[in-house]
Amino acid sequence: MRKNEKEKKQRIILPTLKFMFGILLREKPWFIVIYIIMGIATAATSIAGVVFPKFIIDELVAMAGGDVQTHVTGAIMWAAAFMGVLITAGVINSAGNAVQDALREWLHEYIDVKLAERAMDMDFQHTEDPDALDKLNKAQEGMSWYSGGIMGITDSAYRLAVNAVTAVTSAGIIIFSSPWLLPVQVVSLLLIAWLQSQINKIEQKSFVELSKYNRIFGYVFWQLSDFRYGKDIRLYDSAEMMNNKAQDYSEKMLGVWKKESHDERKMQWGMDITNSLRDGISYFYIGYLAVTGAITIGDFSMCLGAAGTLYFSLNGIIDSIQGIVNKCNYAHRYIEFMDYPAAMTKGTRKVSGTDHTIEFRNVSFKYPRSENYVLRNINITIKQGEHLSVVGLNGAGKTTFIKLLCRLYDVTEGEILIDGVNIKEYSDEEYRKLFAVVFQDFSLFAFSLRENIAFSDDKANDPAIKAVLTKSGLSDDVKKLPDGLDTMIFKSFDENGTELSGGQKQKAAIARALYRNSPVVILDEPTAALDPVAEYDIYRQFDTLVGGKTAVYISHRLSSCKFCDHIAVFADETIREYGTHDELVDKPGGIYAEMFAAQAQYYTA
Ligand code: ADP
Repeated sequence: MRKNEKEKKQRIILPTLKFMFGILLREKPWFIVIYIIMGIATAATSIAGVVFPKFIIDELVAMAGGDVQTHVTGAIMWAAAFMGVLITAGVINSAGNAVQDALREWLHEYIDVKLAERAMDMDFQHTEDPDALDKLNKAQEGMSWYSGGIMGITDSAYRLAVNAVTAVTSAGIIIFSSPWLLPVQVVSLLLIAWLQSQINKIEQKSFVELSKYNRIFGYVFWQLSDFRYGKDIRLYDSAEMMNNKAQDYSEKMLGVWKKESHDERKMQWGMDITNSLRDGISYFYIGYLAVTGAITIGDFSMCLGAAGTLYFSLNGIIDSIQGIVNKCNYAHRYIEFMDYPAAMTKGTRKVSGTDHTIEFRNVSFKYPRSENYVLRNINITIKQGEHLSVVGLNGAGKTTFIKLLCRLYDVTEGEILIDGVNIKEYSDEEYRKLFAVVFQDFSLFAFSLRENIAFSDDKANDPAIKAVLTKSGLSDDVKKLPDGLDTMIFKSFDENGTELSGGQKQKAAIARALYRNSPVVILDEPTAALDPVAEYDIYRQFDTLVGGKTAVYISHRLSSCKFCDHIAVFADETIREYGTHDELVDKPGGIYAEMFAAQAQYYTA
């Protein structure tokens, strides 16, 4: 057990402290100086509160014994010195606190930005992985709410140093004037520390349980309140189900909290009893020393003050150590997420030339944590400029095929080659430049239309943006928008923002893909939300739309397949049929022929 604790400390506490202080020293080194100055001021305040009253009281008592003039002057000087220390320390601390507040904000933002950057650059497959999502959630919560971030931890370390100085000084005073007081204080404190550590353990346990519920609860709550889901919630009468779910999870969370406070209460009682015993014994002992004349009245006051200060500072030491351990345990989840192991090996090769041949060679794939193959033995070659249509029933693996091609996942078996080179050898950044993809579940962001297409607000891009808007058939719609390209999508941040129709959104996503000007365009059911006329227009001008680029698209409407060079029919986890429309459409017993015949009635009627 003890060995485990030690290992945990080495694995969690020290690296976390190193990480946090590393950021502080790297980004704001001058802050350490501010901490030291504030520390001296705070320790001086505590010690002055113990020492100065003794001299003031002794002068006042001596005044009663004669030489009033000298002792009055003495008492006034001590009092003035005391006030001087308190005022100076107060001014230093309040100035320091203001600087601390500003720094706290800065550090929170710094940490959030780094977390967001990491979340955006981590391997895509983690974004579909519950473990990674849970870790992200824990990183966010652990860093902001539970640990107070970098400042939370450095504050505890600062308090530890200040309390250590105060404790050593007040212990010295006690040893000097009332030595037996020391063991009483120390024993009571050890007891309190143990009880406190039990409380911390209870809280840690609840945190782990609550984090899971928080994520689910947060999701349901978010869905309920987000207007974008308003239609689905109302039309499918799903509010009741969502409310029930929210209720269910909130009850579970309440259960965790109840258990936590019940377990904590017992420890709290133990602490109250220990405190009362310690105070009773201390007063009795110091009172005895004063009554028997072993110490002066001033010493009596100083001893009581020193005992109180020692108690509070030792308590402060333990509290700050526990605080550091506790906060590091939470904050460590941030480091864990930042260091989340990459799922894929990263290559360094550059993609050269403009003409590219894509080849899937014996590719099989199953999703991580899944036993079942989604694709088996996929063999296909896509030449430069070729237009390939990928068809198949829902769940046949079409989108997965695209994800593998874009290297959002690595193949389980076999290999994907670009120009004869395994795609794992290419640098990620270089490789991704090859593709402009519109996924079925593409996202538009709550920014302006210009930013959604060009990912930049530079107006110099407008001619190129307008060209792709024309190609994707969105220009007329944009002309009608209140602020044209500057119109904000969604109403989240701008009440003049617009809610585009499903078809307009898809056109915007296609425009974004074309704007990227990559050699391979991939459209995953890009036209599902378009009306048949708009869809027909898109495919009729498909050649103009994508130019001489390679294009792979998934479509449910087989009429679009006529426009492409090859069709790959996905079924039974593999490519069951491959050929041109003319080759496949009349193939006896063919899947494509059957699907086409089933759909033809809609088009020929
Ligand atoms: P299609 O695009 O042809 O409709 P998909 O490629 O989306 O098919 O899905 C193929 C199969 O893979 C389905 O059975 C689906 O449930 C499964 N699948 C899709 N995404 C994941 C994932 N992230 N994790 C596990 N299984 C998945």
